[in-house]
Order: sequence, then C-alpha cells, then structure tokens
Amino acid sequence: MELPFAESWKIKMVEPIRKSTREEREEWLKEAHYNVFQLKSDQVYIDCITDSGTGAMSDRQWAAMMTGDEAYAGARSFYELKDTITRITGFPYVIPTHQGRAAENVLFSALVKEGDIVPGNSHFDTTKGHIESRKAFAVDCTVDIAHDTQLEAPFKGNVDIDKLEKVLSENKDRVPFIIVTITNNTAGGQPVSMQNLREVRKVADKYGKRVIFDSARFAENAYFIKSREEEFKNATIKEICREMFSLADGMTMSAKKDGLVNMGGFIATSHEDWFEGAKKYCIPFEGYLTYGGMNGRDMAALAVGLDENTEFEMLQTRIHQVEFLASLLDEYGIPYQRPAGGHAIFVDADLILTNVPKEEFPAQTLTIELYKEAGVRGCEIGYILADRDPVTRENRFGGMDFVRLAIPRRTYTDNHIRVIAAALKNVFDRRDRITRGVRIVWEAELMRHFTVQLEPLA
Ligand SMILES: *Cc1c(COP(=O)(O)O)cnc(C)c1O
Repeated sequence: MELPFAESWKIKMVEPIRKSTREEREEWLKEAHYNVFQLKSDQVYIDCITDSGTGAMSDRQWAAMMTGDEAYAGARSFYELKDTITRITGFPYVIPTHQGRAAENVLFSALVKEGDIVPGNSHFDTTKGHIESRKAFAVDCTVDIAHDTQLEAPFKGNVDIDKLEKVLSENKDRVPFIIVTITNNTAGGQPVSMQNLREVRKVADKYGKRVIFDSARFAENAYFIKSREEEFKNATIKEICREMFSLADGMTMSAKKDGLVNMGGFIATSHEDWFEGAKKYCIPFEGYLTYGGMNGRDMAALAVGLDENTEFEMLQTRIHQVEFLASLLDEYGIPYQRPAGGHAIFVDADLILTNVPKEEFPAQTLTIELYKEAGVRGCEIGYILADRDPVTRENRFGGMDFVRLAIPRRTYTDNHIRVIAAALKNVFDRRDRITRGVRIVWEAELMRHFTVQLEPLA
C-alpha cells in the first residue's frame, strides 16, 4: 500500500496549550470588546491570527543562536546571513532590518517621493502605508480573477500586464519602481508565476524601470511554481529562487514568514546606488549596517532558516497542511478563496453569513463565532480592516470580506487542523440563525482593526 504523507521533521520541544469553556471565552471576548487582537494568547486554544513570527525554529536554528556574534560592527553572523542571502537570491548587497516594514521604510526613504506612483499586485498594508505616508500612490494591478473566490486558477496572485503597462505609459516619469508581492498575501496567499514575473520584467525594461519583490513568502511562491509550471517541475526550490530573483532589481523581506524566525527582515539588491541610498537611512532608523536592528544570534538563526525553508520537503510539508485544511472545508461545503493559498485559508464570510448585512461586518462576526465555538483565533481581513474612505469617511464595502486562518509554520499538527475545521463547520451549520453582526463603538482613524471596540447587535 502507498505510504501516507507525513511531516519532514519530528518534534523535540513542546509548548502546552489550554482549552477553555464557552462561558470563559464569552467573558474574555466581552472584556476584549469583541476584537480578537485584544485577547491574551493564553485565552486562545489554536492561534491562526497570523503566520508572521509564529513558527517553530529547528534544532539547527537554536544551535546557531548560541554561535551568534554580537559585535557591533562586522559581526560574523552578519556575513553568514549575507552570504546565505546572496547564494539564494543572487543579490550581492544586503542590509538587515528588524522586520519587513523596516526594510520598506529604509529603502522607500531613498526611493519614493511625493507624487510618485508605485504599481504592484495588491500591496501589503504596511507597504501601502510606507508609500502613502510619503504622499505617493500605490496602484493595484492584480489580475481580476483574484476577486472571484470560487474560480480555480493556478496563479491568482499575478500582475495584470495590461494594467501595469497602462500605469507605466501614462505616468512614465512618476514611477520609481514596480513592486511585486510573492506570494500575493492580500489576494489569499496566491502565487505569482515565473511567466508573469518574466512579463513584468519585460514591461519594466521597456519603460526603463526597476522591480522590487516584496518577498515575505518567496519560498512558498517557488514551491507553487515548481508544482504548477511545467518548465520547473524538475528544478530545485533553490534553482527556482535564483531564477525568480534574477528578474528583480531588489527585494524587501519580512523574515518572520519564510525566514522561519520570530523577528527579522532585510533589503537585498543588485544595484550599488540603491544600496548606497538605503545605507543612509539604515543607520539612523535601524542601526549600523552589519546588524540593522537584529541581534547577531537572530541573524545566525535566520541564515539557517532561509536555507532550510528553500528545501522542497520543508515546503511540501507546510503547503500540504494548508491544503489539508482546505480539503476538510471542501468536505463540509465551506467556501474559501480557491485554490488553497500558501500560508492561510481565506474563508469567504460574505457567502456564509448571508443574513448578516455588510454594515454589521459578517467576517468579524464569523471570527467572533469561531472563537466562541472552540477558542480558535482567526483574523478578519475584510470590511473592518479596509478602514474608511479618507475623503467621504464612509466604510469601504467594495472589497472582499474574509476570515483568514493563517497557519504558523511547523507549529500545529493535523489534529489541530481538524479541530479548526470542525469548529468552523459547527458555526457553518447554524449560519442561518446568525442574523445580526456587530456595531463599532470606538475606532482609530487608521489601521482600526487592531484596536477597534465592538458591540454585538444580537
Ligand atoms: C508581513 C509582510 C510585510 C511586513 O513585514 P513585517 O515583518 O510584519 O514588518 C510586508 N509585506 C508582506 C507581503 C508581508 O507579508
């Protein structure tokens, strides 16, 4: 008989987690103003709020931590990290930063100015923030099929080349660079194909523009290229990474995702002028160039993490688990952004809580119900996260309303995944009786989802 699939690692250290009662959870939720960001992690049984910095390090990474060189300047750990990044990406210039948004802040300080236009595929929220705070504009050129959650397509994270070309031809002098997010987080962890990256490169060259990859989940993207693009089915993940990055001029990286560390990030580029520009901002914002906000030991662990996570079996184990959750939801008939993404399942709350009006935030309501059901913490990626229109101050109901179930790397077992799916099924089975959502009692002007206070309407 064929052997079943199993993880490409075994467990050496565990962290106890605790279940709770529905009564406890209802009380905690009330104290948290019905915002799961306000819960304490001890009040959560299975935590799917994010895959960022929540993964488990390997024994080799922990061992590397002990060898960290904490020298202020010229630390050995920096050179280990730099050499690993150069080997995987081909970029010779590397600047460490304390996380991904810091990499954006440093690099964009050198590159983005007022009135600029930065086209890309669903810019990540901090990326967009760092563009807009400089009074520049982020123009989304994601393919339209990304918005059809039930359509099965292999690369729903792609850049729409016609949209990109239109932006470039109309604003030639205002575009400092193009940014491509791999994988496309906002579209549901959907990958970008090598073919699409090549087309982006071609258009960029035509207009004399450079390309940055926002690379938080580049390894997962490489896995999807290997499994879905015929040309690469026999290539190694590391070969695919080299090929992907050969199509870019530089990258920003949140190492909290595919770097398999709890904190960290970096900028890497092939251009000396970008390196020189970013250096000027790294020192005041992050720290000296050979640590940029990171401990020596953290750079050492990141070097190992990048190496491990660009191996096929590590990625296969991960993506397999996300696909396992998707297969259970398929069995229960629960709609989500199809096909399963790399790091998360995006449950389509709009299609589930059809009796809850948009004005009462269906995805947030589903997030609350899921937590109450089993202590599973998801994250609303929907109408609350979308904030208000800066001009009209109206809520933005034009986008999608998801509950994101992000899966931390190497952290939960498939049994935990079964609990998540069963809890969601229980809520799904009583969806017709959920007719009221929540109302906002207090909100911040920007990024309101972290601190918003809500009240149930039922
Ligand atoms: C997480 C993330 C960032 C920001 O990185 P942080 O480490 O959270 O600061 C930027 N872009 C993408 C695509 C991300 O997923």
